[in-house]
Amino acid sequence: MALIVQKYGGTSVGTPERIGAVADRVARFRKEGHDVVVVVSAMSGETNRLISLANEITDEPVPREMDVLVTTGEQVTISLLSMALIKRGVDARSYTGSQVAIETDSSFMKARIEKIDDHRMRADLDAGRVVVVAGFQGRDPEGNITTLGRGGSDTTAVALAAALQADECQIYTDVDGVYTTDPRVVDKARRLDSITFEEMLEMASQGSKVLQIRSVEFAGKYNVPLRVLSSFEEGPGTLITVDDEVDMEKPVISGIAFTRDEAKIIVRGAPDTPGIAYKILGPVSDANIEVDMIVQNAGAAGATDFTFTVHRNDFKRAMTALEKSSELGSPEIIGDDTIAKVSLVGVGMRSHAGVASKMFETLGAEGVNIEMISTSEIKISVVIEEKYLELAVRALHSAFELDRESA
Ligand code: ADP
Ligand code: ASP
Ligand code: MG
Repeated sequence: MALIVQKYGGTSVGTPERIGAVADRVARFRKEGHDVVVVVSAMSGETNRLISLANEITDEPVPREMDVLVTTGEQVTISLLSMALIKRGVDARSYTGSQVAIETDSSFMKARIEKIDDHRMRADLDAGRVVVVAGFQGRDPEGNITTLGRGGSDTTAVALAAALQADECQIYTDVDGVYTTDPRVVDKARRLDSITFEEMLEMASQGSKVLQIRSVEFAGKYNVPLRVLSSFEEGPGTLITVDDEVDMEKPVISGIAFTRDEAKIIVRGAPDTPGIAYKILGPVSDANIEVDMIVQNAGAAGATDFTFTVHRNDFKRAMTALEKSSELGSPEIIGDDTIAKVSLVGVGMRSHAGVASKMFETLGAEGVNIEMISTSEIKISVVIEEKYLELAVRALHSAFELDRESA
């Protein structure tokens, strides 16, 4: 009999009926003799609702208090699920992140898990109980409540699976696995039977929100067998694997990720002198803003154009930091928050040439202008105008032969 950690996302626990359906599934696993630890998210929409409440109180909510606020969403679902289990004759106990002792650092709203004390969970499992844990939260060394960033319940589940050396970590969600691209955007997207950790990490980093990036990092680091499945129907889901043997039959591209979460800033006519990159990006970094893509054009007549992207939430702050900077002289600073980034991901790129040129040709044929490009060993990303995003993803999906046959 196995020890399984199951995580159910917001939609999967979005109504009392759905919580009941989750309890039925957990009860079935118990009946088969498995030990089960369940991690749940807040009911769908609840975290966003709590964040908007805070925004009605103040423009700049204090991160510590945000974490106290948003963790309440998960506290509701753990108790409701435990009640549903107990009603079905399954002994269960719910715990907040702090109670099961998920210890994190003190970076409110984006804390990292440092240690998990599994005593309490083990004692419950030994006593035949299902342990129900609130996702996305922990406590710092001072006992403050922390959260792991949006989508963090995935990471809670993987971290618990690692700490308990579970046989499998199952992420139940509203799609039946990881697809070649977001199936809500491309109806010809295909479910993958498996995807490597490396590819999944790249897909998640480039915007596929089906798994939080940190959960994939964690699973890779601690060798946690990880599977994404539907909470609404039975099926094999998608297994995240370590196997990345070069298979010439394997498609060159495994998936297409995309995001609307970025914004672009162009510093036009900056002095083309040593240290200019630091002068531009220094103030941005001082404002604690992360930069993603960077392009510096060849200089002409002592001036150069310097372009970079930041998270769209940081766009206004980044513009202000640059406009206030006294180091830059008076270049023109142009912001654009209507961009999107599309990325092709696949370990097959390592052994196949020509992926980039095919990508550029496909986008060109659709009349989509490429504004920025960045590549890594298993990924090519381009920035385009946001309005062309869906067109671009669909065209690339067909061009790289990822389309489901009969859709
Ligand atoms: P949960 O609330 O269960 O954590 P999320 O909304 O965080 O669910 O993640 C599931 C969603 O991820 C899907 O509904 C789908 O729209 C989106 N998604 C994005 N890219 C992919 C992909 N490549 N494969 C599957 N789902 C994807
Ligand atoms: N409820 C949190 C969120 O919406 C965490 C999660 O669902 O994983 O981001
Ligand atoms: Mg999620």
